[in-house]
Amino acid sequence: MSVLVYSESENGKLKKSSFETASYGKALAEKLGSKLICVSFNCSDSELLNKYGADKIIHVESSSLKEFTAKTYSYALSQVIENEDVSVVILSSSADAKYLGAYLAGITDSSYLSNVVELPESLNPFIVRRSCFTNKAFSSTEINGGLKIISISSNSYVVKENNGDGIIENLDLNEVSTTFKVSNVEKQSGKVTIADADIVVSAGRGLKGPENWHMIEELADVLGAATACSKPVSDMGWRPHSEHVGQTGKPVASNLYIAIGISGAIQHLAGINSSKVKVVINNDPEAPFFKAADYGVVGDAFDVIPELINKLKAR
Ligand SMILES: Cc1cc2nc3c(=O)[nH]c(=O)nc-3n(C[C@H](O)[C@H](O)[C@H](O)COP(=O)(O)OP(=O)(O)OC[C@H]3O[C@@H](n4cnc5c(N)ncnc54)[C@H](O)[C@@H]3O)c2cc1C
Repeated sequence: MSVLVYSESENGKLKKSSFETASYGKALAEKLGSKLICVSFNCSDSELLNKYGADKIIHVESSSLKEFTAKTYSYALSQVIENEDVSVVILSSSADAKYLGAYLAGITDSSYLSNVVELPESLNPFIVRRSCFTNKAFSSTEINGGLKIISISSNSYVVKENNGDGIIENLDLNEVSTTFKVSNVEKQSGKVTIADADIVVSAGRGLKGPENWHMIEELADVLGAATACSKPVSDMGWRPHSEHVGQTGKPVASNLYIAIGISGAIQHLAGINSSKVKVVINNDPEAPFFKAADYGVVGDAFDVIPELINKLKAR
């Protein structure tokens, strides 16, 4: 039996999350006494997975897999599952992977569990710990059935180098027919996305208006960070909805989250619980966000941010 990791890529290169899922997959394969197989689609650097313990790397090249659709990707994965005698499939927690997990479980008649944060507590029965209620609680959940599919919460497992045998195998797949075809995907270029970011610089209504966001963008540039915002900011059209963080927006699991002029409402905090270090800049010492912060600066953003940018540039 094997553990199969679906290694996500973007623009033909492995995503950072692929090293985390491979590290998790290796540790699980060792516990199960099985092999780790990593599969990637249209990816030019999949051999890097060797460094994270892959015993086999399956490289699938297919024009059907040029753009993500749950149907084509789950069909391709189901072919690999059929060929390789797989017991557990591991996915990342990206929006695509979560969608894929549900679809794949449907077509392979297996069980799927998202938001897994640790290696299984028990293998037989197969019990995993997962976060729930927007990371406020954890549950130990048993997965029944033969094939198990799990998605791992980002930043919940440490990336660990572990040399594998890494036989690389190429697999050609037939065209997969779909009811619809993705004709064009436009992605923002040169920007770090919230999901992949180590650092996120986020701002709220305290910034007063969209004309002041150049400060946030400059700070993000200096730090190599992604930009984000509170819900009212995107509702008012100051920033795109793709940047809205919180219970009704995107979850953030970065190593550093800098919140500027955001009050710290419970719905906002729900989206950033998984971030490791939280820094708050707010001119109101009573702002609720300070209670959730690791570091706080009480001050006017319009004074603090330019100063911070200057200090960081000087370093
Ligand atoms: C069902 C529901 C779902 C929601 N989902 C979300 C969600 O997903 N995400 C989300 O963010 N919100 C969400 N909200 C809204 C949430 O309740 C808050 O209203 C919102 O987060 C407040 O945004 P804010 O902190 O930017 O604005 P405000 O609450 O207006 O806070 C602005 C902050 O900026 C500070 N400030 C002002 N001037 C300065 C300055 N010059 N320098 C420094 N600091 C300054 C103020 O002291 C204040 O703390 C939701 C609400 C509901 C009811």
